[in-house]
Amino acid sequence: MSQALRRAGTVDPGALRRTMDIVKPHLGGQRWLMSGGVTALLFEVAFRVLEPWPTKYVVDAVSAQLGASVPGAPEATAGLLVACAAAVVLIVGLRALTNYLATVCFALAGSRVATKLRAAVFAHVQSLSDGYHATSKRGDLVQRLVGDVGKLQDVAVTAGLPLIANVITLLVMAVVMFVLDPRLACVVVFAAAAYWMTSRGSTTRITQASRKTRKGEGQLANIAQESLGAIGVVHAYSLHGEISKSFSGSNMKTLKDGVQAKKLAAGLERRTDVIVGVATALVLGGGGWRVVQGGMSPGDLVIFLTYLKTAMKPLRDLAKYTGRIARATASGERIADVLDVLVDIDDEPGAVPVAQVRGDVALRDVWFGYLPGEPVLRGLDVTIPAGQRVAVVGPSGAGKSTISKLLPRLIDPTEGAVCLDGKNIRGFTLESLRSHIALVPQETVLFSGTIGDNIRYGRLDATDEEVREAARKASAHEFIEEMPEGYDSYVGERGGTLSGGQRQRIAVARALLRDSPVVVLDEATTGLDPKATSAVLKAIDHLTVDRTTVAITHDAHLALGADRVLWVENGMIELDGGPMELMSEPSGRFAAWVSTQRHAKEVS
Ligand code: ADP
Repeated sequence: MSQALRRAGTVDPGALRRTMDIVKPHLGGQRWLMSGGVTALLFEVAFRVLEPWPTKYVVDAVSAQLGASVPGAPEATAGLLVACAAAVVLIVGLRALTNYLATVCFALAGSRVATKLRAAVFAHVQSLSDGYHATSKRGDLVQRLVGDVGKLQDVAVTAGLPLIANVITLLVMAVVMFVLDPRLACVVVFAAAAYWMTSRGSTTRITQASRKTRKGEGQLANIAQESLGAIGVVHAYSLHGEISKSFSGSNMKTLKDGVQAKKLAAGLERRTDVIVGVATALVLGGGGWRVVQGGMSPGDLVIFLTYLKTAMKPLRDLAKYTGRIARATASGERIADVLDVLVDIDDEPGAVPVAQVRGDVALRDVWFGYLPGEPVLRGLDVTIPAGQRVAVVGPSGAGKSTISKLLPRLIDPTEGAVCLDGKNIRGFTLESLRSHIALVPQETVLFSGTIGDNIRYGRLDATDEEVREAARKASAHEFIEEMPEGYDSYVGERGGTLSGGQRQRIAVARALLRDSPVVVLDEATTGLDPKATSAVLKAIDHLTVDRTTVAITHDAHLALGADRVLWVENGMIELDGGPMELMSEPSGRFAAWVSTQRHAKEVS
């Protein structure tokens, strides 16, 4: 499609189509509300068209009376006046009622669709892989989820609905005007054509400016989210000034783009005002002349003028609404962009739920890289029998944490296979696979809620007693009981009120509650002081009994207590054996690592 053709549309058609595509699937359930709304809307249009007719009859009757040489039948005129007055009240009342019904129906449908759309976008965002989330901006995502979906809903009700009503009213009134006087009706057509000419181009520019504003708002949310998320660091390094500077910079830019969009929309509206003024002047002059010549009745002129005014208001509002719709489609596009990101890790076709699991784990010639052509894991081959506790150690950046992501399928190997009980895990449904694996990460995230709830995230149907039992085994019961409200104590976002060691023990309790045959620990004791480390190690001892354990660790104690140690370097398993065996291995790498880690702990 040529650029000129594309600009001729009132709203960027590509953006509008993408917005409609994301909304459409959620409209199905609202069929009744939508058709109720449309019916009420059509009735409202009919009443709007009928509204000036009583006035026409009154004006015609009165002017006939005044023009008659002998005043006669004043009773008949009085009767008509009363009937017309009653008709006005009835028409206005019914118009108000139908308008109310249409607005309520569309508002209800709008909020239901927005709720569904938001849930769908959130579910989609949650199903996207770690790789996506590692590179995406969280604040911007939240902005799309909350702000953009809200904007779309708001505009659908406050602009989409009146726009449809206006277009129908305009068409019906045009038909009535053509029947009354085709020549004067042409004035309205010229006015509509003039509007179309002036709005060309403007709306495309409005969409572009709006898109920039929404993007800027996303950036603002990112800066705020990042700095508030690390407020401790901001305070400690006195970064307030620096961050405020970049915040105000983005803030100013968003303001400028916002003003630009508003300026363009306001310009378009005012140009429409002028067109409406000229059209009214033409109808007033031309129509008056026709009445004097006897070509039409004074009542017809009243209908014409009222229609022109009523029809031109929708025309003028079209500019306002198209501006708003252009802004909404910019929001729609931002949501569509998120929905277009493919879910790269999902259930494979024909995937089955995991049945009874023993816990044999195997990596078969596994290759993986975050970026094409830069492998992080290079042909890992290892078989771990059920119940074996394996520590994975090695230099930083060797790919250890990447290994821990393979089992719960946070990433998929680019080549090779990860097997559970001899079967490729890609053959299992994601949810059932993950329910058989407990992960204890380096930094445990606690969700807003009570401590009890946070442990229960391990298994949602666990009883209170099971939650307590898990906490006991994870050496968390005592400190929880000492808190003012015990298990009902509220922990803030990210668990800021608990120490690192306490958070890790909650994570272990969560994993214990899951009671899964396979446990993955990703540097679960890193960053803890010796006392907290020994409490967490004790908890881990309980957790890993008789479970296949893959522990990525920097802790010499944990490595020496394992059944087997894998030394990973450059994405390959370079040493594999019992801890004592590796201590006396000729290269001395493991022994050197153990003494370094011990020394580091003593110093800390
Ligand atoms: P280790 O746990 O042994 O320190 P990692 O598995 O965390 O090593 O990382 C291995 C390599 O992969 C490093 O070079 C790191 O920079 C890179 N890496 C880790 N996570 C990502 C990611 N999300 N995107 C791109 N590269 C990554």
